[in-house]
Amino acid sequence: MAEKISDNYDAIIIGCGIAGSLVGAILTSKEHKKVLVLERSPKIGGRAISFRGEGIREMSDFQKALGLSANAWCYAERCEPALSKIINSGLLDGYVLEAGGRAGWYTNRGRVSYALAAFNKPSIFYPSVGFVWFDHQWKPHNVTRGVKYGWMSEEGFAEMRKISKHMLQTPTLADAEQYDKVPLKDWLQKMTSNKEALEFHYAMGTFHTILNDPALISAGENLKAVIISREMGVHVTHGAWSLAGDPGHRFIAEGFAAVVTDNGGQITTNARVKEISVQNGKVTGVIAEIGNETKKIKAPVVVCTAPPKQALQLLPKKVLRSDFEGVLERTINAGGITGQFGLTKPLEAFCKIEVDPRSFYHTPILIPESEGFRGNVPLDGFTLSNIAPTVAPEGKYLAVWVSSVLEEETRDKKKVDRVIDRMLEFLDVAFPGWRKVVEWKLFTISGTALCWRHPKDNKPDVICPSVEGLYFAGDAYGERANEGGIEAASHSGLLCAGAITGKSYLDMVPPLFQ
Ligand SMILES: Cc1cc2nc3c(=O)[nH]c(=O)nc-3n(C[C@H](O)[C@H](O)[C@H](O)COP(=O)(O)OP(=O)(O)OC[C@H]3O[C@@H](n4cnc5c(N)ncnc54)[C@H](O)[C@@H]3O)c2cc1C
Repeated sequence: MAEKISDNYDAIIIGCGIAGSLVGAILTSKEHKKVLVLERSPKIGGRAISFRGEGIREMSDFQKALGLSANAWCYAERCEPALSKIINSGLLDGYVLEAGGRAGWYTNRGRVSYALAAFNKPSIFYPSVGFVWFDHQWKPHNVTRGVKYGWMSEEGFAEMRKISKHMLQTPTLADAEQYDKVPLKDWLQKMTSNKEALEFHYAMGTFHTILNDPALISAGENLKAVIISREMGVHVTHGAWSLAGDPGHRFIAEGFAAVVTDNGGQITTNARVKEISVQNGKVTGVIAEIGNETKKIKAPVVVCTAPPKQALQLLPKKVLRSDFEGVLERTINAGGITGQFGLTKPLEAFCKIEVDPRSFYHTPILIPESEGFRGNVPLDGFTLSNIAPTVAPEGKYLAVWVSSVLEEETRDKKKVDRVIDRMLEFLDVAFPGWRKVVEWKLFTISGTALCWRHPKDNKPDVICPSVEGLYFAGDAYGERANEGGIEAASHSGLLCAGAITGKSYLDMVPPLFQ
């Protein structure tokens, strides 16, 4: 990675997360281009970074990698024992930690896995099995397919089913697309006023987006995720969530990055792009800080994979069309507050009902919206090591709990503390006695986990409309890309490589995902 930087490339890619590494893999291996990937963090992976516990040796290195790669940080004051003690006494050894709570979709049958397979790289996802809903009193209910849900009235269940049926009968993704600019809240409220049915379907919308306020979720995007789930045969009770085994989600970018370097591409870490150079409406390269040096590097093609609000900081003023700039500015950054806990017994040992050990746990109202949050704050969790056994050492268990919040809420210390306090209160009620088996608690906060277009906007395209040679890739980009997170990042990578080369790379994934 300390290879000498030349001053001229066919393409420079800013960022070595999923999208950047995938574009790099295609341009090097299929198009034989001379490619340079510049990554500001000391590690590759971007927001999908993960860590082996024994690899975390210095608190400052851990915080630096979390911050630069994933826009996340570890809330050291709330960790127990103190973060320095957790690290120095080797308590994390043998565990695999993510930057925060993660649960993707479609296990090994999503875009990510198909794209990796196209380069002969494996996927390491495991499906969740079982879904437990904790009602407003935090009493658990197993969800069984086709059987009335324990916390719902007959009427609420019938209304909820009516809406599910309507969603599932949407024939194609194109049919769903007409609701792309309709907020999920409006779409659902036209169908019912039943509170239980609304609460359930709002929760499903939040599962897809980690946005708590259904007014911020696109009904069309939600329907598309339902259609794809239908086609994949996954359900909340089986396979709806996929969890990565060892070494965690970084296997995705690492897989693509290996293709880049195997095909002569260059990946340089600790290399921050300060500015994208533009002259007469054409991109000419970048200015980057690499080590202690500032370098001008030329290329006729630049791919920016920084999330939209960060991407705006890299561009000279007035080079973007104002409508495009507006869409980037209005991107909604959804974040999360996560507790990762090392246990000597799994969570199900403390649950008041018998549950599948691989269950996904959910409660819709950890904190009500009336306390000043945007939407009710939910809480989701699982014993990750029961689902993906390679993420904890023999005889130990890794439990993960996450509440989604907006980026601005992650910057409010009172709100973050409130979520953590309430998370611990919930665990005491829902899993009484669990504290006796806790060896360590580690909290991470991520400001920008998933990026979403505002439901009234189009997704910004991968081709910059006003600067020739400038492209974007990442979970927030790609007019024709649907869904979010790692699936969207890989979808946009395929779209971007196609836009640069004039070829279609979407056929690397099945038609359903195109
Ligand atoms: C805690 C957390 C939980 C998540 N949970 C899920 C989940 O459950 N399911 C799911 O599907 N998705 C989840 N996501 C989102 C998912 O990880 C992202 O959508 C995906 O990884 C985005 O990939 P990307 O390539 O688009 O962008 P990124 O991963 O953000 O890649 C951009 C890269 O650019 C680099 N960069 C930025 N600016 C510069 C610069 N100036 N110079 C050089 N490099 C730069 C960054 O360091 C980064 O490596 C989660 C994210 C986080 C943080």
